[in-house]
Amino acid sequence: MAYRAEFRCLAGCEGVSIPLTQPTYRCPRCRGLFEVVHDLAALADRSPAEWTRLFDDRYKRTAWPYGSGVWGKREWVAPEVPDDLVVSMDEGGTNLFWAERYGRVLGLGDLWVKLCGNSHTGSFKDLGMTVLVSVVRQAIREGLRVRAIACASTGDTSASLAAYGAAAGLPVVVLLPRGKVSTAQLVQPLASGAKVLALDTDFDGCMAIVQRLADEGLVYLANSMNALRLEGQKTVAFEIVQQFDWQVPDWIVLPSGNLGNASALHAGFRMLRDLGVTARMPRLAIAQAAAANPLYRAWTAGLREVTPVEAQPTLATAIQIGSPVSAPRAIRALEAMDGVVEQASEEELSEAAARADRSGMYACPHTGVALAVLEKLVAKGTVRPEDRVVVISTASGLKFTEFKVRYHDRAIAGLPCAQANPPIEMPADFGRVVDEIAG
Ligand SMILES: *Cc1c(COP(=O)(O)O)cnc(C)c1O
Ligand SMILES: [Zn+2]
Repeated sequence: MAYRAEFRCLAGCEGVSIPLTQPTYRCPRCRGLFEVVHDLAALADRSPAEWTRLFDDRYKRTAWPYGSGVWGKREWVAPEVPDDLVVSMDEGGTNLFWAERYGRVLGLGDLWVKLCGNSHTGSFKDLGMTVLVSVVRQAIREGLRVRAIACASTGDTSASLAAYGAAAGLPVVVLLPRGKVSTAQLVQPLASGAKVLALDTDFDGCMAIVQRLADEGLVYLANSMNALRLEGQKTVAFEIVQQFDWQVPDWIVLPSGNLGNASALHAGFRMLRDLGVTARMPRLAIAQAAAANPLYRAWTAGLREVTPVEAQPTLATAIQIGSPVSAPRAIRALEAMDGVVEQASEEELSEAAARADRSGMYACPHTGVALAVLEKLVAKGTVRPEDRVVVISTASGLKFTEFKVRYHDRAIAGLPCAQANPPIEMPADFGRVVDEIAG
């Protein structure tokens, strides 16, 4: 059976059906976003039990390309990419961490953290980038000329694109807001050999320029406006359900900026349900930094359209976005998943991350936003003690050393850093060490 997928208009314009290898990112009729639509009738040739057995058989195996959690589910992701064009670095298959001690602090007994940052470049962006760069290679084989693959980034997208582009031997250009990404995030694309343009603007300013470059055909666009990214990222939903022996949790809590990942998770859970693997969807809690909260403002006001805001500085730099490109997709996700939107202040995200760290995690500030939002939802009674909850950790804390150092130095202006644990500097004196240990 031949499985197929194509771009269709998210808003439902008739007759729009575009191959995934075509470098177009907007509906030719209404200029709106695309979604990738799979031939579900073809996929129904296997029963749900047959699909889950196939996915379990492949999970993290050595046979190429099934070491990757994304390509292990290739028929549901990008079914037409041949093996030899796959650009993969074993992304996916990440730890679903049972947050036993942290959960106990919150009064939750069934709390899990999906560590999507335990990945090749240290963030979930690898899941989407493996699909996008592989499809670009397929398009090139079919004759497309690509001068460069390009993205605007708050740091992690560019690190991922640069690495996958380097692995594929394709030129990469990244546009970063100057001075607004971590040192690790800046150095990653430099090391991969990408052309790094640090612009005197914010993410939204970079995005406007790269969109124009793409519209004028000068670059191939790798931002999540390109629905190919979401196809890879939706495997997080598949994997969570698989890791619970194909059971659906009650809640997903997700830190969000451009809202691509929220859309991807929705697409993943919807596909599981449409193909009969699961019977229901989890509820979705979208977590925003209070400093960059356009979706929170719209949703809590009962609006179904997001008005851009100017994003203010936040420690959660990867979600400092005021004009989220995937807002229409995220609204659909919230409607379909009985969703809620909550926000976290700088203090709340910092303290939640520190609390999680004290229980064995090493949370990046964005994961801190999600954890802080979870704490609020538990306090409100929206999330109940018996609920099975999965928090998506989007990046490795190791990419945000400045955040950790400043917290433990109590050097974040205006914040108490209540759980700071600075080093005790002392002479190399045995007796003093003994005294110190005795406390
Ligand atoms: C990209 C990113 C996000 C936000 O994802 P969106 O799809 O833009 O909402 C959150 N956390 C980290 C660490 C990221 O890199
Ligand atoms: Zn349209």
